[in-house]
Amino acid sequence: MAHQKYLKNVVTLKLEQEKCVGCGLCAIVCPRAVFKIEDDLAWITALDNCMECGACVGNCPVGAITVHAGVGCASAIIHSWLTGDEPSCDCGGGGNC
Ligand code: SF4
Ligand code: SF4
Repeated sequence: MAHQKYLKNVVTLKLEQEKCVGCGLCAIVCPRAVFKIEDDLAWITALDNCMECGACVGNCPVGAITVHAGVGCASAIIHSWLTGDEPSCDCGGGGNC
């Protein structure tokens, strides 16, 4: 699973590294191996692997990570694949994906 990529360049995951205290929890809980810990800081090394589950956000003790869990463009596109509906998300692009 960790080697499967999601859609490219649509993931809403953000890391404010200046807030990071290097606890490593994000790397531990992430099911897609998106983070690595190096020099006592978290680094995003596989952004497109992120499936926007929100586990890292929920476990970061300092609020260094944000993600729009389940509402990003990737989620919208996958939802459209499953339902046959037009993809629609909250990316701010002024309309559908
Ligand atoms: S949202 Fe989920 S898949 Fe994405 S980086 Fe966080 S824990 Fe990993
Ligand atoms: S969970 Fe937060 S504080 Fe801990 S390593 Fe990850 S980003 Fe840094």
